[in-house]
Amino acid sequence: MEFSYYNPKSIQALVDTLGGLHSYALLAGGTDLLVKMKEKLLRPMPEAVVDINGIDALHEITDEDDYLWIGALVRHTALTESALVNKKALILAEAAGQVGSPQIRNRGTVGGNICNASPAADTVPALLALDAKVKIASEGGFQEMPLADVFQGPGRTCLLPGQFISQIKVQQIKPDEGAAFLKFGKRKALAIAIINCAAWVKIADGIISDTRIAFGSVAPTPIRLYELEKWLIGKPANAEVFAQAGVIAAQLIKPIDDVRSKASYRTRLARVIVFRSLVTALERVQVGCSFE
Ligand SMILES: Cc1cc2nc3c(=O)[nH]c(=O)nc-3n(C[C@H](O)[C@H](O)[C@H](O)COP(=O)(O)OP(=O)(O)OC[C@H]3O[C@@H](n4cnc5c(N)ncnc54)[C@H](O)[C@@H]3O)c2cc1C
Repeated sequence: MEFSYYNPKSIQALVDTLGGLHSYALLAGGTDLLVKMKEKLLRPMPEAVVDINGIDALHEITDEDDYLWIGALVRHTALTESALVNKKALILAEAAGQVGSPQIRNRGTVGGNICNASPAADTVPALLALDAKVKIASEGGFQEMPLADVFQGPGRTCLLPGQFISQIKVQQIKPDEGAAFLKFGKRKALAIAIINCAAWVKIADGIISDTRIAFGSVAPTPIRLYELEKWLIGKPANAEVFAQAGVIAAQLIKPIDDVRSKASYRTRLARVIVFRSLVTALERVQVGCSFE
């Protein structure tokens, strides 16, 4: 296997490098890319590998007003250990902590998890539940886009040649809000999700005033269940409503049979995982709720 290797040291240098290349692959942690290259799963194989690890700005986590800005190269271990992420977007730390194994988490990045576009990616439902936006860089400058719009199918994103994700922006969780991320796999570690789910709720006087529910491994891309969210808004936050939400979620998703699970098992799990995610999310709300 032959390819040329580039390692630009700034975002502008990366933009310039990509502008001069015909066929390339960006290398972040390499935990998806290098496996695919070794197994010759990329068609066509890239003529160049552009290593973005030397760009310091892409490794940063910062907070600004109500948002956290997470560099695309932030590794899962860094997300799991970040005091800022644990305090302000706990479910992202929890989701990153469930990716693969310590070795994979030490290399794999949040940007790579998004851009690999696996329907089972663990950080993505958490990011969707936090209403994440991605900042896309290219020769034309920067643009911001809802994360949900990035995915076009298994392994496919909307990114055009020359474009890359520089940062992810997530809403910080406030005292009247709570969120949870749960994953079912064949094992507790080093297992791709049979199903994963993230729920975020905003509560006022015991009523769900806003919510976001996101799933992985039940569709060709990670998805938000907008119909379920609409149904939940205005309802009391209690076990009965959450159990009904599980039933509705199971009706809305259209999973498939694959190597990890039958569709019918995923549908049954959806009921449970939505219920449990909502219960945990509610338990984490600090003001405006009481759970019976
Ligand atoms: C043994 C093993 C276990 C795993 N377990 C899990 C798991 O439990 N859960 C899970 O979600 N994933 C799992 N993965 C998949 C993988 O580790 C994650 O998806 C990881 O986050 C990928 O990040 P990376 O930095 O290694 O991406 P890379 O492999 O470097 O890149 C992945 C893709 O994204 C592109 N890319 C990377 N960064 C950018 C960017 N900033 N802008 C545009 N394109 C970009 C690359 O060109 C490539 O196409 C596992 C992988 C392995 C090998």
